[in-house]
Amino acid sequence: MLADAPDPVIQYGDSAASVVNNGHTIQASPARGGTISVSGTTYALSQIHFHAPSEHVVNGNSYPVEVHFVNTTADGKVAVLGVFLTPGGADNPAWDSYIKTLATPKSLSESAKINFASLLPADRSTFRYGGSLTTPPCTEGVSWLVFTTAVQVSQQQIDAFVHAYDHNNRPVEPLDGRTITIDHSTTKAAH
Ligand SMILES: [Zn+2]
Repeated sequence: MLADAPDPVIQYGDSAASVVNNGHTIQASPARGGTISVSGTTYALSQIHFHAPSEHVVNGNSYPVEVHFVNTTADGKVAVLGVFLTPGGADNPAWDSYIKTLATPKSLSESAKINFASLLPADRSTFRYGGSLTTPPCTEGVSWLVFTTAVQVSQQQIDAFVHAYDHNNRPVEPLDGRTITIDHSTTKAAH
């Protein structure tokens, strides 16, 4: 089932971030990464991390990398923004600062400066559903937003993710009748 929803309002920015290789993925946590507003609730960007290959499948297509932007409220609400990366063409410089952190050794941490807004696709249309977090603890009531448009990076940049962690995705789950909502982007004539 598909339904329309207003676009999320995403106000990410530049921030220093603490980066840790936690043995499952490389997680970058900004000091002040900005906010996302969804259906009247404003969340602060808490951390980003990635899965290779993607955990979501769109129209039967999976992607080599899916990056999760985890956003939280002070009272514990969680909204996760999913961004697919697809290979093609030259290096995407917007991703350089995060990709450099992929070399962080296991159990070690470092710092980086990341422009979180620049990591997102220009088209802000998203698929949305309520689900569970894909890594334990599987918190119910998480709002998911997955961009319908993948971000293009170079094959070498994809390789850097896969070299850091391969197959750290969770098998795709059936939707079990959950409603998928597509944002109706004002910048796009039709879906
Ligand atoms: Zn994740």
